Amino acid sequence: MFPVPASNLVTDQSKESDVSKQFSRRDLLRIGALAAAAPAAMTLAPTSPALASGGAPGDRGGAGSKHPRPGWEAPNWRVKPFALNQVALRDGIFQQKRDRMLNYARNYPGTGGVFDGPDRMLHLFRVNAGLPAPGTWPGGWDTPNHLLRGHFTGHYMTMLSQCWADTGEEIFLDKLDYLVEELGKCQRALDARPVGRVPGRSGMAVRLSDPHPNQYVLLPAGILADVEDVTIAAWVNLGAAQNNAKIFSFGTGANVHLSLTARVSATNPGPRFAITNSGSGGEQRITGDSVPVPVGQWAHVAVTLSSADGTGRLYVNGVEAGTAAITLTPAGLGATGNNWIGRGQSNNDPLLNTSVDDLRIYRRALDGTEMQALAAEEPSAPAASPADLVAWYRFDTEGETAHDHSGNRRDARIIGTSYRGFLAAFPEGQFSRLEPPTLQPNSGPNAVWAVWYTCHKIMRGLLNAYHLTGNEEALDIAFRMGDWVYQRLSRYSQDELDRMWNIYSAGEAGSMNEVMAELSALAHPAKKRTRYLAAAKMFTFTTLFDAAIAERDELNGRHANQYMAPNIGYLRIFERTGDRDFHTAAKHFWSMVVPHRTFSNGGAGRSEHFGPRGVITSGFTSASDPRHAETCCAYNMLRLTRNLFFHDPDPAYLDFYEKALHNQILSSRRDVDSVTSTEVTYHQNMWPGRSRRIGNTIEYSRYGGNGSCCNGTGLESHTKYQETIYFHSADESTLYVNLFIASTLTWRDRGFVITQQTQYPTEGASRLRFEQAGGRLKVRLRVPSWATQGYTVRVNGHRQLMAAKPGSFVTVDRRWSRGDTIDIDMPMSFRVEQALDNKAIQSIMYGPTLMVVRDATPSYRDVSFYRDLKLDGDLASSIKPTEVAMHYTTHGYTLAPYYIADPVPGEFNAYHPYVRRVEPEVVFGSFGSGVPNDEVRDENGETFLDRVWAQAPFASHWQFLHRVQQVSAQWVTAGRHTEEQRQAILDAAAQARRDLEG
Ligand SMILES: [Zn+2]
Repeated sequence: MFPVPASNLVTDQSKESDVSKQFSRRDLLRIGALAAAAPAAMTLAPTSPALASGGAPGDRGGAGSKHPRPGWEAPNWRVKPFALNQVALRDGIFQQKRDRMLNYARNYPGTGGVFDGPDRMLHLFRVNAGLPAPGTWPGGWDTPNHLLRGHFTGHYMTMLSQCWADTGEEIFLDKLDYLVEELGKCQRALDARPVGRVPGRSGMAVRLSDPHPNQYVLLPAGILADVEDVTIAAWVNLGAAQNNAKIFSFGTGANVHLSLTARVSATNPGPRFAITNSGSGGEQRITGDSVPVPVGQWAHVAVTLSSADGTGRLYVNGVEAGTAAITLTPAGLGATGNNWIGRGQSNNDPLLNTSVDDLRIYRRALDGTEMQALAAEEPSAPAASPADLVAWYRFDTEGETAHDHSGNRRDARIIGTSYRGFLAAFPEGQFSRLEPPTLQPNSGPNAVWAVWYTCHKIMRGLLNAYHLTGNEEALDIAFRMGDWVYQRLSRYSQDELDRMWNIYSAGEAGSMNEVMAELSALAHPAKKRTRYLAAAKMFTFTTLFDAAIAERDELNGRHANQYMAPNIGYLRIFERTGDRDFHTAAKHFWSMVVPHRTFSNGGAGRSEHFGPRGVITSGFTSASDPRHAETCCAYNMLRLTRNLFFHDPDPAYLDFYEKALHNQILSSRRDVDSVTSTEVTYHQNMWPGRSRRIGNTIEYSRYGGNGSCCNGTGLESHTKYQETIYFHSADESTLYVNLFIASTLTWRDRGFVITQQTQYPTEGASRLRFEQAGGRLKVRLRVPSWATQGYTVRVNGHRQLMAAKPGSFVTVDRRWSRGDTIDIDMPMSFRVEQALDNKAIQSIMYGPTLMVVRDATPSYRDVSFYRDLKLDGDLASSIKPTEVAMHYTTHGYTLAPYYIADPVPGEFNAYHPYVRRVEPEVVFGSFGSGVPNDEVRDENGETFLDRVWAQAPFASHWQFLHRVQQVSAQWVTAGRHTEEQRQAILDAAAQARRDLEG
């Protein structure tokens, strides 16, 4: 989510109100007590868990509830997740990181009041809805002028819902219910806005530009094509003194137009008319510097052009404000299409903030007396000479159409239609600015930024509040938003929609298709179901969708997050319709990212964009943009990955899931407490020798520590760690143990309570203990792809005979009794992962964990391992443990887990996720062959020793020799080695027996 400048929108942020009046469901005594007992410390004790209190109002599904609330489930899933309230984390690194975020969730912003956090999240929504808005806003991108404001509130709702499901602490429900209820009030207040006409100079007028939904007026193409002499006159009531905003403009672009500027500049505050058919250099102008158009009152402005005397005149309130020789005529500009009221030809001109009434176009130049009469005209008086009118807009009737009262049927269209159900923290016109006819939306005074992305976060938060806590009002608000979505987008063709979704980054729509598809399943009247589903499909970006189905990789240069998130929605549409294309597109998309664009921490993207397929290391050592692996991308890839697995339980999905979870996500939460800042990363730099601080920017607090995109997704990631540890088959006959994370699964429907005890990823072992058992169950245990040093399973101490292939599942199928145990042993080893585009650039992995070299030198550190390898191929022979768990030394450097994130305040550990492998000679132990290794590479960029050791571990020296012979033969055949070199290699390998056997 790349930041764009804040708009010039101004909102009122300081309306006073009595907060206590807004409390509707919790009594003040309780709030007062909590406020007094809640300093900004992490020690605020959990309040009454619903189970223990026994007095929870209904069963809202918190931890301990008998009713799982798993959220969305599709009937065609082969595998299903457990609800968050069915799996509890136990001691371990995940619990530690989760607890820090729970602490934030309970106490943010550290001012003591239970509703202080929700009130901050509500502030900008209340301002936008015109409601009293006490206090302040979250900060970061959630500030009054910021174009993404409101998204953080959506994430916050999701976090609270997850925290409630996880802990059953009522404080989370209190905050959430209050927030939802107040958002409902905002939505109703927005529904009650005057969205059509406002009182005008005579009858009604049209109000243009934010905060009003109407943005500008579009007049018919060619409206002045045959007009030589002209008068254009209108009543305007300016809402602000804006430089360069246009009262009207008719043209084809910057080179050909006639326009009336309301105010040129602060030093030149009068209006100016210009006409040109050759750009700004050829403009013929009438300036009215001495007579500014007043602000905040109705004023009559007019321009006349007379070809007879070659003169143009500018009038303000009937008085001539300027005159000039004008030889160009409207007809001379041709049949123009960009004919607008309130908008100029340049997208750098702000939309005019104004009310407009009684705009008339005559096909003759009115004289001074006529103009005076027109400006002095009584509101009810008729047009002076209707026969001469080209068009006449009075704006008296409601609707998108501005009727032409001249009798010439030149109706105009008001751009910026509003619908009921809108809910956002910014004006609805932000959506109009992205829609056809689209403004240039990414910069300038009319910029918008990812309005649909923001909408998705809010709707996702509401749906999570419904799914995870049973908040019915949240669902109702989401339904009304869904109605609004359908109405907004159903007006456009797929071509028009594709143009929107192709815009970086204003067209970023998150997973809007996901929430709309889910709404379609939850809605009752069939008509609504159909509409929501249709709306879900409207978010399909055809270009990439079609390419993905055909397995054409067209991701290069695309914004990563923008095109990741819709794939989750494609799966929802597949689940609702059975249309396989939607599944295929998502599946193929995933395969274009994994492994072809995935760093060793599980992240993707540079400066938030995809690069060419297979290119990992480009720019690592240059001065190019160091921002890699936006944390939101890992968040979205994890969401996509688990959803793909529900359809197709391929263990490869879980290998990626484990890598991204254990590395990018786990490391994204700093190991310090805070109740004022999320302390999660934005980017994670993959450069050698960098840290989670880039220059002066600390990635945890980039954009304020609250309210950036990754701050938002971070609220979610660290409060749902348990969501993928266990799954079950749709028929409930099989339990999937996917991840080795200390936890307890309570599966009431099947009568099982299973505890997983493990120190993973510090050690490669885990014990499952059946605390309660309900009979027969197939237990599918994941064999990670990295588990190449063996994988054994013992049931009640008895070793099971099974072929455990790395990157698969093994199954134990039996009747289980209370007290039964499963012990999994999967020895961890050090290994390297080569960058796809440069096999010498490698990451050191230990089990699932990326191990980084702790060093601040900004260039690759060189390492050599082959000389020290034993038959097992484990790099441990040249990596020594230290006294600190999971910390090692190698080549004089410290190796530490990537997931440890700057635990000492003020210190930022520099690290090398990638090192350079230097292996100049083909060597075996202390026996060199004299044959160069690094210089000679095969078609995959690998060296001779890479190829040999790829088969490790070796059971015996004889087996090792066999492998050397095999590869050596291939290399001679390929012309890479001579027979002489082959012999030297075989000799060295044979002599090295003792070294290799260690
Ligand atoms: Zn982000």
